[in-house]
Amino acid sequence: MKVLSIILIIIILLQADEKKDITLQLNWLNQFQFAGYYVAKEKGFYKDVGLNVTINELKDKQELTNIIKDGKVDFAIGRSSLLINKINGDDIVILGAIFQHSPLMLLTTNEEIKTIKDIKNKTIMITPDAEFTASITAMLNSNDINRKDLKIFKHSFNVDDLINKKVDLMSCYISNEPIILQEKGIKYKIFHPKDYGFDFYSDILFTSSKFIKENPLTTKSFYEATLKGWEYAFKNKTEAAEIIYKKYNTQNKSLINLIKEAEILESLVIDKDNRQIGFLDKNKLEKIFEVFKVLGLTNGKINLDNFIYTNNHHKKIIFEIAYEQKNMFIMLVIFISIIFVLTIFFLSRIHTKKKLLDAVINTSDDLIYYKDQRLKYIGCNDAFKRFANKSENEILGKDDFDIFENKFAKIFRDNDLKVLRTNKMSIDEEWLEFDNKLLLFQSKKRPLKYTETKIGILGVSRDITSLYEIQKKLEEQATVDELTKVYNRKSFNERLKEKIEMFRRYESNFCLALVDIDDFKKVNDTFGHDIGDEVLIKVCGIAKENIRNTDLIFRIGGEEFVILYPKTLIDEAFLSIEKITHIIKNENIIKNHQITLSVGLTQMKENDDEASIFKRIDDLMYISKKTGKDKITVD
Ligand code: GH3
Ligand code: MG
Ligand code: MG
Repeated sequence: MKVLSIILIIIILLQADEKKDITLQLNWLNQFQFAGYYVAKEKGFYKDVGLNVTINELKDKQELTNIIKDGKVDFAIGRSSLLINKINGDDIVILGAIFQHSPLMLLTTNEEIKTIKDIKNKTIMITPDAEFTASITAMLNSNDINRKDLKIFKHSFNVDDLINKKVDLMSCYISNEPIILQEKGIKYKIFHPKDYGFDFYSDILFTSSKFIKENPLTTKSFYEATLKGWEYAFKNKTEAAEIIYKKYNTQNKSLINLIKEAEILESLVIDKDNRQIGFLDKNKLEKIFEVFKVLGLTNGKINLDNFIYTNNHHKKIIFEIAYEQKNMFIMLVIFISIIFVLTIFFLSRIHTKKKLLDAVINTSDDLIYYKDQRLKYIGCNDAFKRFANKSENEILGKDDFDIFENKFAKIFRDNDLKVLRTNKMSIDEEWLEFDNKLLLFQSKKRPLKYTETKIGILGVSRDITSLYEIQKKLEEQATVDELTKVYNRKSFNERLKEKIEMFRRYESNFCLALVDIDDFKKVNDTFGHDIGDEVLIKVCGIAKENIRNTDLIFRIGGEEFVILYPKTLIDEAFLSIEKITHIIKNENIIKNHQITLSVGLTQMKENDDEASIFKRIDDLMYISKKTGKDKITVD
């Protein structure tokens, strides 16, 4: 109890020290775009957590990151381009992205513009700030339209310039100008970068790591109260619009317009997986950063770990108790703590065994999971959670189609059904994507009787990618020559045997050429062993390029090779080997030094075996050597 009281006092003292008068800087004029903040303020959500929040609309175009640096404001709203500010050294931590999809797009009333390609050579109003308009630039560039293909005008932010045909296109928010055009009955077309694969975050709430360090509880309270404000605003759009209409209507918008704005923005607030407002996905941020890089707006590598606020992914806990009622608050906390301690105490006695088991399965790197008879998850270990990139709450009670991409979920489902149908263990190997890498998993699944009558699935999946890679390398090493990457002698012996069998059974002809580089010792002695190696590699490269896919080349000794021509008669094989020797001789593999070959060529004959055919090409090659080298001797 003593310890608990001390902790509580420390918490209260700590919180008392933190900043309570908070300033939030918006990045545009008051409108529904910022509804969650007004609602959190006007409905008392900020007050409930002891905060007094001042909301500033954008007066002149201030550098938003700077005013946080100067300490003039505590929180501000930014765009995906905060990634660039971060890599340029600004102290920024992003708390949450209110808009999962940016509302920024291109608007036109010019009926000649039917597809994005028609934008070429048109007049356009767009802000010069390349970082802000990156998603639009990327959309245009990917359709072969560059800035030089456009006539760019200074942005007036006045939709009349579109109506009066002063310009063909303007960049704007999907939730603003289109509503005005709709009201006036003017036809328009929009080009939304999201529809072209450039799906950026927008309206990202951010602060500095310095602020968070000095005010951790305030930051958390502010973020959570803000999310509560946003949830309320979209659940009660009319009420939120009324709040703006009455108290924040610096733009003189009509109530109807504010409600329409709310409806359009709502679709941008929730992401495709229906995750909570504000959710930040590391992969998506990395993709956005890639786009910035491709556009040449930044380079380098960004570390997202200290960029994303640690509480972003956590479920929010909202204190419903008024902050002023401290005594009641303290009593409640004590009460909850006692219940908590008692529960832990009893649970630990009952569940020591289960905890032990949990500890064991959680130390495993294998993915361990179990599903009920409807194939919904009833349990999993930490490794599985990491793989699914989801919390336990997001997994339990869900099936594979809720958790994974359809193509993977289908594979898992088929395997599960097979196990349930056959009532037998199954072992399958699948390539799956994880963290943008393709990994090979081996999954063992077996029926799991989890109640008297019900049978589900118990699965253990292991990442065997490195094992697979090692195996592949070993296999390769066994058949391929390290230096030249052509097949080795062992492989030659096997294939020759196989071809002789094919000849005997199906009379399938083949030819064999033994190739020996002339005076290779001299090459080594004159130019060095390394150059010698290079010559071997190049000779093999040339030979490989000039044989058919079905022909095979083997390195059977230092500078000796065999070419095997399956289903080939001697004349054809002769033309091939002649071409190869000709190219090698004239290729200038080493400056001012010709590389020539001595070759023995023959065709498989009746009664030949491995030894006899090999002896024949060896003898033929020897004749080439004896009679002056740089020759092909055929039998
Ligand atoms: P010939 O015209 O009679 O074939 O003469 P040669 O010098 O080519 O023949 P020899 O068999 O006497 O010498 C082959 C040389 O090939 C000897 C050896 O040092 C060299 N050699 C063998 N393997 C390699 C290798 O992997 N790399 C290099 N650089 N040289 C090798
Ligand atoms: Mg030799
Ligand atoms: Mg030689």
